Amino acid sequence: AVVVAGSFNVDHVWRCDTLPAGGATIAGRYSTGPGGKGFNQAVAAGRAGASTTFVCALGDDAGGALARQLAGADGLSLVAEASAEPTGTAGIYVDARGRNSIVIGAGANASLSIPFVTANQSLVGSAKVLLAQLESPIETIEAALELARQNGVTTVLNAAPANAPSTISLLKLADVLTPNETEFAALLSRHVGERIEADDVAALDGATLHELCRKLSGNTVVVTLGAVGVFVSHAPERLRGDSSAYYRVAAETVQAVDTTGAGDAFNGALAASLATVADVPFAQHVRFANRYAARSTENEGAALAMPRFTPADAV
Ligand code: ADP
Repeated sequence: AVVVAGSFNVDHVWRCDTLPAGGATIAGRYSTGPGGKGFNQAVAAGRAGASTTFVCALGDDAGGALARQLAGADGLSLVAEASAEPTGTAGIYVDARGRNSIVIGAGANASLSIPFVTANQSLVGSAKVLLAQLESPIETIEAALELARQNGVTTVLNAAPANAPSTISLLKLADVLTPNETEFAALLSRHVGERIEADDVAALDGATLHELCRKLSGNTVVVTLGAVGVFVSHAPERLRGDSSAYYRVAAETVQAVDTTGAGDAFNGALAASLATVADVPFAQHVRFANRYAARSTENEGAALAMPRFTPADAV
């Protein structure tokens, strides 16, 4: 089973011709729906075939009720800490070219606590994979990763969003660290003083990328490269069944209409594959997640656009 510890937000989205400038009032087409990296990844893990529990914090309000209803509809178990804060929200403006401006109201997500994780020790400890992100308090995420590690649970950390604080000791708790290019550049700058533009990451040669990954983690690093695909870097002594310490997997060719949540799709599917498919090289889990994430871009939306995969979709 997969346990995802992380955020749930109610997303409020306005599609506008241009992003509003300071002081401006403009018109936009409004829609609302569920979001939050934790929830998106939990939905992906479930739809990618793993029995999945989502651990989060919710307010006593309509947003919290929405989370419960949608988790139930997707067959996820929901383990929610009751918060006095409102359920998390995101205000999102998207312009005609697909660029966005986002404000997050962490709300209840900021109150996911260490005691709550500890109270759910047996749940976390009996999972096959724990998947977490950084939209929740880092000390709580650290506690969840530690608990998982102590119980031999495989830990996957999506160090997102890029501006989230992190520490090297937190990164060390991840068996698999999965930044996108922007998060990778931010982690390198913050933790090892390497200044690299996110836009330049995909073009770096494999040996250089591998060396950079090794500076961040003593374990596996998977850098997602958007439409380019994925770069994988292992510790030489821990190849996870692969024959090389580093390699690329090319993205699958799809008609992408909305890449929002592609990273969430990738992480959820990677965790699901690690939890449900035993004794295959790590590259096979990566190819599954790479295919799942590509398919998630063919529909508009994030959580609700996650594809449903059957064993026949495995690669
Ligand atoms: P994020 O959503 O965090 O920015 P990425 O953009 O790196 O993450 O996308 C995650 C993964 O989704 C990629 O590694 C790839 O597997 C898949 N993906 C993203 N965009 C495309 C695309 N245009 N075509 C095919 N696959 C894609």
